[in-house]
Amino acid sequence: MLTHLECTRCGEHYPADRPQSVCPKDAGILYARYDLPAIKRSFSPARLAGRAPTMWRYDAVLPEADPVSLGEGFTPMLPSREFPNVYIKDEGLNPTGSFKARGLSAAVTMARHFGLKKLAIPSAGNAAGALAAYAAAAKLEAHIFMPKDVPIANRVECDYYGAHVTLIDGLISDCARKVAELKDSDAWKNDGWFDVSTTKEPYRVEGKKTMGYEVAEQLGWRIPQGIIYPTGGGVGLLGMWKAFDEMEALGWIGPERPKMITVQSSGCAPIVKAWEEGKQSAEMWPNAATLASGLRVPKPYGDYLILDILKKSKGMAIAATDAEIVEATRHWAKIEGIFAAPEGAACLVAYRKLIASGFFKPENTVVLFNTGTGLKYLEVLDQSAAQATARPAQSAKPAARQIGGIIGPY
Ligand SMILES: [Zn+2]
Repeated sequence: MLTHLECTRCGEHYPADRPQSVCPKDAGILYARYDLPAIKRSFSPARLAGRAPTMWRYDAVLPEADPVSLGEGFTPMLPSREFPNVYIKDEGLNPTGSFKARGLSAAVTMARHFGLKKLAIPSAGNAAGALAAYAAAAKLEAHIFMPKDVPIANRVECDYYGAHVTLIDGLISDCARKVAELKDSDAWKNDGWFDVSTTKEPYRVEGKKTMGYEVAEQLGWRIPQGIIYPTGGGVGLLGMWKAFDEMEALGWIGPERPKMITVQSSGCAPIVKAWEEGKQSAEMWPNAATLASGLRVPKPYGDYLILDILKKSKGMAIAATDAEIVEATRHWAKIEGIFAAPEGAACLVAYRKLIASGFFKPENTVVLFNTGTGLKYLEVLDQSAAQATARPAQSAKPAARQIGGIIGPY
């Protein structure tokens, strides 16, 4: 029962029966809105029992379209073996090995629904693999623009899925610029092209919001006191916050909310900087460099929404160094049996700091999001382990290099 799209800046409404990008007036992010009172009358959590363990079990609060699904979502909520009351939401078990599957399952579903043919995306890595897979499943063309030094797994999977890949000598922001240039061409207007960039179409947020529904359902419709989320583009943070508001309107949860915590790498921490300076939007982070490639987003498009959520939830933003992230990745693997993406392991660094500072108490229920599998970062993690033992933490940034033909992370 999708009714319309609403601008998160000016509140203007737009029809949801055709492809939409951002608000034409102020470039604000558009959110999908539903007839929640009608859904409240016709659907309740009890009706979820026995449904398929994918994100589409929540189709009552998703657009009505034939899903392009590879079994994404309903990932395990694993109790930590180290900390009581801590859960690790393991998104590494999604199709294509990352949480990006959710947003792109929803975005590709709607793109096919609207008859679009060619989908373009700038990606730091994992979103590229997810778009390539879902486009293949939907028989649509994927056109991917990613930094040439993304993890090799992302490049190889896109190739195998049959996507058209353009490697860019730069960061995701340079890739986004390339897509913007393409948009000015005549082919774009005449040939069924569409830009599925993070938060520049309304449905990736809808896919990602199912993480919020799952957190509530898997904790028995109780809301945790904290959620720690590695924030690059921040779509999951936006989506979960939206899900909590929807669930309250549906009467599934009360007014309680988790403290939302953004963790970033100290090599690219625009949200942490803006948070510490009390700003409402982030500045472009210069010379972004971190082995957690999903966090190499120098200025997230949804910065104003992320910072607002941190404030409203009484959360905060915190940074972890690459050395801390690599140590945490190894620690989780050894202690929890979870080989996490470096972005995910950054949550452990944040949790330790927030327990040490007294921000969280040991009795608080806190959910840590592992956003992907470490298997997609093998060359990065292998080299990092060597660096961590071979050089002191404060040494200079390593220069670009090639080892055994594999392009390094910097
Ligand atoms: Zn607007």
